[in-house]
Amino acid sequence: MDVNEDALGMSEEPLDASYESAWDTALAQLDEVAELMGLAPGVHETLRSSKRALVVSVPFRMDDGSTRVYQGYRVQHNVTRGPAKGGIRYHPDVTLDEVKALAMWMTWKCAIASIPFGGAKGGVAVNTKLHSRAELERMTRRYASEILPLIGPERDIPAPDMNTDEEVMAWIMDTYSQNKGYSVPGVVTGKPVSIGGSKGRAGATSRGVMYMVFSTLKQLGIPLEEVTVAIQGYGKVGGHAAQLLHDAGCRVVAVSDVEGGLFRSRGLDPEAINRHKKEGGSVVDFPGADPISNEELLEIECDVLIPAAIEGVITVKNADRIKARLIVEAANGPITFEADKILIDRGTFIVPDILANSGGVTVSYFEWVQDIQAYFWSEEEVNDKLRLIMERAFADVYELATEKNLSMRQAAHWIGVGRVAEAHLTRGLFP
Ligand code: NAD
Repeated sequence: MDVNEDALGMSEEPLDASYESAWDTALAQLDEVAELMGLAPGVHETLRSSKRALVVSVPFRMDDGSTRVYQGYRVQHNVTRGPAKGGIRYHPDVTLDEVKALAMWMTWKCAIASIPFGGAKGGVAVNTKLHSRAELERMTRRYASEILPLIGPERDIPAPDMNTDEEVMAWIMDTYSQNKGYSVPGVVTGKPVSIGGSKGRAGATSRGVMYMVFSTLKQLGIPLEEVTVAIQGYGKVGGHAAQLLHDAGCRVVAVSDVEGGLFRSRGLDPEAINRHKKEGGSVVDFPGADPISNEELLEIECDVLIPAAIEGVITVKNADRIKARLIVEAANGPITFEADKILIDRGTFIVPDILANSGGVTVSYFEWVQDIQAYFWSEEEVNDKLRLIMERAFADVYELATEKNLSMRQAAHWIGVGRVAEAHLTRGLFP
């Protein structure tokens, strides 16, 4: 183990035979739908690989004057329908393959929402808990400089993901703008409103998740007020989703973060949990609730399970113990390809990530449009337009799933891959 891995606290557990990486999952999903829809082999092969992948080393100064170097990535999976779009993740387990998978899912997501972007993703293999804010700022600015040749409002537009937030976006926007010599707000989305961010972007992914819960319950004829919800991950997406669903009348019975989880059958109050988390940095030890592990949260008796943390949490090992009737994937890739089959066989209704969490990129698209036009919208306008796009996308996917007897995931991929394939065939192959 080299010095960096040590500092990162990376796990060195051996992989077992059933292990499925995010990249394995993404490719298996694409291959399955390519066969189902009879995709042209040349287009299928093109879509299996990333258009561009940049690996950079990110050296930066620590507060004590020493130097630390981490590996960073930016991958553009596809830009046939428009500029590349996708978040930047800071996490010790970030790898090139993970970023490639996340970029591919972004391509399908934008196509399903009919947003004129291709898919991208970026990341730095860093444990943010080991660094001060000043160190993270220097690291971010250096990472932004290293990926500068790829990004820009017409090329590739980053956004927040795990452990990155609007402040990180502001640093990237500033670094890019300093290089250009003028302000370029459209280079990132999910930035503060004071520098060209959009109203409604902070809660957009969670709001979209809520709309997908509503749409599904309506289809299944389940009244909203009777619904119990469990949410894994209490960050930007999971925390907001808990609040929105609680406010809408659902009973949020369990939540968790990386440290552990909470259960209360009568329901939890997200506002009180937010206050508790602000003080201690975690949801654990919240008074009046039973402590549970992240594994237990996934297997809890509830109507709606919302994984909102990281990929690969529901696998062949625990899929047959999941009791939720409905899973809405706020996280990207929380269910492996093989686990998905087990859940579908058991009758679980799954709203797949590429549909369920597309509220974030949809409002990011609105932010980019507002930046380019230098004309800003009200929060109400943003939320109304978001709702329309997501309800239409849900209806498209549900209709195709019903018509062709597909799972919601297969139908979503069919639509996403189909739209990208059509764009490829329409443009033709250069030269
Ligand atoms: P975040 O960093 O704000 O929050 C992540 C949360 O997950 C934290 O509460 C963290 O403690 C918890 N967590 C991390 N590892 C965990 C683990 N192994 N087990 C249980 N909990 C764990 O990140 P976020 O922006 O909320 O993103 C969460 C997920 O949603 C990611 O999969 C991301 O790709 C996806 N997503 C985010 C957006 C967005 O707009 N931020 C948009 C679409 C999809």
